[in-house]
Amino acid sequence: MSESDSQEQVAVVLPDGSALEVDADATVEDCAYEIGPGLGSDTVAGKLDGDLVAKEQPVYDGAELEIITDQSEEYLEVMRHSAAHCLAQAVERHYDDVDLAIGPPTDEGFYYDFDNLDVDEEDLAALEDEIAEIIEADYEIEREEVSIDDAEARLADEPYKLELLSEFAEEADTVTFYSQGEWEDLCAGPHVDSTGEIGVVELLEIAGAYWRGDEDNTMQTRIYGTAFEDEGDLEDFLERKQEAEKRDHRRIGNEMDLFSIQDVTGPGLPLYHPAGKTVLKELEDFVEDLNKDAGYDYVETPHVFKTDLWHRSGHYENYQDDMFIFDVGDDEFGLKPMNCPGHAAIFQDHSWSYRDLPIRYAENGKVYRKEQRGELSGLSRVWAFTIDDGHLFVRPEQIKSEVEAIMDMITDVLETFDLEYEMALATRPEKSVGSDEIWDRAEEQLESVLDSHGHEYDIEEGDGAFYGPKIDFAFEDAIGRSWDGPTVQLDFNMPERFDLNYVGEDNEEHRPVMIHRALYGSYERFFMMLIEHYEGRFPLWLAPEQVRVLPISDDNLGYAHRVANEFDDFRVEVDGRDSTLERKIRAAHDDRVPYQIIVGDNEEADGNISVRDRFEDQEYDVEIEAFKTHLEDEIEEQRTEPDFLQD
Ligand SMILES: [Zn+2]
Ligand SMILES: [Zn+2]
Repeated sequence: MSESDSQEQVAVVLPDGSALEVDADATVEDCAYEIGPGLGSDTVAGKLDGDLVAKEQPVYDGAELEIITDQSEEYLEVMRHSAAHCLAQAVERHYDDVDLAIGPPTDEGFYYDFDNLDVDEEDLAALEDEIAEIIEADYEIEREEVSIDDAEARLADEPYKLELLSEFAEEADTVTFYSQGEWEDLCAGPHVDSTGEIGVVELLEIAGAYWRGDEDNTMQTRIYGTAFEDEGDLEDFLERKQEAEKRDHRRIGNEMDLFSIQDVTGPGLPLYHPAGKTVLKELEDFVEDLNKDAGYDYVETPHVFKTDLWHRSGHYENYQDDMFIFDVGDDEFGLKPMNCPGHAAIFQDHSWSYRDLPIRYAENGKVYRKEQRGELSGLSRVWAFTIDDGHLFVRPEQIKSEVEAIMDMITDVLETFDLEYEMALATRPEKSVGSDEIWDRAEEQLESVLDSHGHEYDIEEGDGAFYGPKIDFAFEDAIGRSWDGPTVQLDFNMPERFDLNYVGEDNEEHRPVMIHRALYGSYERFFMMLIEHYEGRFPLWLAPEQVRVLPISDDNLGYAHRVANEFDDFRVEVDGRDSTLERKIRAAHDDRVPYQIIVGDNEEADGNISVRDRFEDQEYDVEIEAFKTHLEDEIEEQRTEPDFLQD
């Protein structure tokens, strides 16, 4: 018997669905060579069941394998991880006694965390030069498999690495090191073959970060950077970044006095000021109109429940770490992280016939989730937020028509705000509750809704929640950034847990299916996204201050107030300060007020107004009534009555 015959074989699945048989100890790279020598030599890394791994990683039977070359989307991620290593190498060349923490790639680049590092923004240029030299030197990046004992000896001066090592040691007998020139790091990889393969690196900023994101740990120094294959890509990125900073909702929120998050009131707990609440109220009213027309009933539930409810809903076992839980006397309570259990409890308090269904409950429900403090940021990551939540209780055969109606509502919302969107259907995962029959039926109905909707969608096989399939929306804002949007989630689990029933035509008890849906998702994230999408220049219907009246001189102040009274159906202010007209115009512009009404002696004599818009177009001799009509029409047009409600 020849040697190859005795070798055990495994099969991996390639992206085209075909199987590739290889020796049981074959690596990702071996597989690539098996497919073709060209691909073998181009291999940078691999993906095994979706996880990015080193090309030296052995494959296993049944794994889905993807070969990563410098043509793959993931290549940038690999290169940026290598750039993070160059940063750490440069830092250790310039500073003594620095302790290394972690240095992963991110969506936009990479970072590396250091302890005992005293560094300023001014020092970044010198580090960038050092990195450029490391790239220029074109060090080979070598991977080495090391026993835990050897690793411990090599990391003797690195307390954070030792902490990580002790965790790896629980799962494996060996770890890997990557070295380049005189420098090495405990690291799982993957990396490019040599430092010369890294294009251009730019260091972006310095921030504080807690070790492992836990505020009880040491605050370390994090240096952020990014890397691209060439200078042009970097320039494009920096331009987009600058545009994003100009639109930063925290800065605009402060300038427009929309909201604040204060130390004294607590982290991740936003306070909405009058201007901010004005915008939120318009958003609330808009979905309330949609909900009422679509047959939803509003309900209200408190912010806190006894933990009995969280046991019943399953949140206590599965979600406890993210909940605020506390004792009152002998009872335990928890702030609600989701609104669904409250709505299920309302449904459960009745007996229902099949004729009553679907039941649709809506609530602007405040929820509380204990995110790590280090992760909190403006309105995008918060502890307290409000969901424009809706829960439907439907008969299994009603899934299609109900989801269809929800999809229409969601797409109308997204179109109202000029947001492009993408959709994906997430299907049954390996571990799930509910019968095959109900899953198949539900997925079929969702697919047929998506097909008839006419918009392209992806299918994310096995990505559904264990309790039901879902449709996810992602939208793109004015500068091309993608945001998680609304979802439509089917749920076969909660009706079981709450023992929800209706009496069917057959006089037997049946389980309804629960549908969770939100049109905006969280108000906080949606509001944040709108601020950045519009750069604070909200459409007229949302603008906190819609019209500002500017008297040319103090002599026209009385007339200015009389004009403002004429516009009291709108959000109008008078700039009565003793200041020049130029300054008042500038202030209104900076405050992002959509329209300025300018009144001087001429306007007062004729009983009319001059109007100036955000684009600095000015019109004279405008009649007050005509401009009112103009404003009403503009608001009506922007706050579009969705088509499906008009018929
Ligand atoms: Zn690394
Ligand atoms: Zn829900």
